[in-house]
Amino acid sequence: MNHPSPRTVWEAALGRLELQVSRPSFATWLRDTSAVSFDDGRMVVATPSLFAARWLEQRMSSLVEATLTQIAGRPSTVRFQVAGTPASAEPRSVATPTSSGDCDDWPADPPASSGRGFALNPRYTLGSFVVGASNQLAYAAAVAVSTRPGAAYNPLFLYGGVGLGKTHLLHGIGNASASRGLSCLYVSSEQFTNDFITSLQTKRTREFREKYRSVDVLLMDDIQFLRGKETVQESFFHTFNDLHNSNRQIVLACDRPTSALSPIEDRIRSRLQWGLSADIQLPAQETRRAILELKAREIGVDVPTDVLNLLTDRFAGSVRDMEGALNRVAAYADLTGTAIDLALAHSALGELLALPPAPTPSPQAILSTVCGHYQVDLRAVVSKRRDRKVTLARQVAIYLLREQALMPLKSIGALVGNREHPSVRQAWAKIGRERDVDPSLDAELRSLSESLFAPREATPS
Ligand code: ADP
Ligand code: MG
Repeated sequence: MNHPSPRTVWEAALGRLELQVSRPSFATWLRDTSAVSFDDGRMVVATPSLFAARWLEQRMSSLVEATLTQIAGRPSTVRFQVAGTPASAEPRSVATPTSSGDCDDWPADPPASSGRGFALNPRYTLGSFVVGASNQLAYAAAVAVSTRPGAAYNPLFLYGGVGLGKTHLLHGIGNASASRGLSCLYVSSEQFTNDFITSLQTKRTREFREKYRSVDVLLMDDIQFLRGKETVQESFFHTFNDLHNSNRQIVLACDRPTSALSPIEDRIRSRLQWGLSADIQLPAQETRRAILELKAREIGVDVPTDVLNLLTDRFAGSVRDMEGALNRVAAYADLTGTAIDLALAHSALGELLALPPAPTPSPQAILSTVCGHYQVDLRAVVSKRRDRKVTLARQVAIYLLREQALMPLKSIGALVGNREHPSVRQAWAKIGRERDVDPSLDAELRSLSESLFAPREATPS
């Protein structure tokens, strides 16, 4: 087998890290890094500044190492250095298990399970999950399946927008079950896919089956990535049936409800109906506040009220982004040796605060952006007209109202010409499916979303 280049390995690692860390953290610390070398499992990564190297070293080396270990299939370490530094003769691992208070810190040594799945993050426990109206059903279900795996709700299906705590709950269930001696496997559906493909290529399908079908609790994250991959779904389906038949617990997380999965997943969907689906909504202000206070305690920083307010208001759309912002403020305070106050928070967050304070675009903004893009009149979109262009604009508007403004289907129906809830759901699901198989639609949706989130010039009303 030929060796992948350091660059390839690092790019693969960045791809995974992007799914695991907050958007601001990724953009601030990881995006502009590059691989220098990768020898004997020792990765050297160049960063744009010393500040970034130190930050990554302190806060992210464990996560990066766990990720590299996964990708390289061998224990790996990482060292960060400023770009342009000559590679030292003996790369030294900086993967010291960092001080308490490291939010992104996974076990420095990914346990032996690393070949089996991602290591469970010990910080993501059910006890460190803040419960509010937005997530109480999901939380209660998570507690129930950890107490009575295989018996309470099987499968448990958790869904909700990005950064709202699905992965945290999966790990929480895993940690609780593991502490009771059960064997747990946490994987993303991408890893399942990779494993499956590798097992076919290397003719190790038996090992593959054993790995996935021998666990007490299978936690599979981001199952939306199974969409469009029929043979992988087939394999997932068998795994699922096997586990379910022997009363093993299955917990799945997805960024959308099952009804938005495509028809090819009908079989999977009907299986999901055996269990319980629980959604996680955007948390309300008090819950965000409670989460932020808990995260601040976890990393051992004192955050004054005005800074807490700033963070809960400006990063209301994703707990992950809010936490990323807190980490960034804490890192600045730490590295500059000053206490956290509003001025420091502003300078630490810089351009992130220049983003529009509203985390979710308004329904009106979505409608007018979509109408502008497809050059159709809003009146046509909310009318009964069904010609192609208008229908597409309407469906895309429905999709974005749901995905970006997180509006309930009923309210969307009311907004787009008093349409019934099932037809709204259908339109939303249709666009969701089509974007998977139609790259140009996908690109269109991305660019629409980007323009919705782009900082806006004040426009005369
Ligand atoms: P998702 O998988 O839904 O995209 P994550 O589970 O990765 O989101 O959550 C992102 C971050 O937000 C994690 O650090 C997680 O601990 C935190 N988080 C989200 N919701 C909560 C909550 N209710 N209580 C505590 N932390 C939370
Ligand atoms: Mg997740």
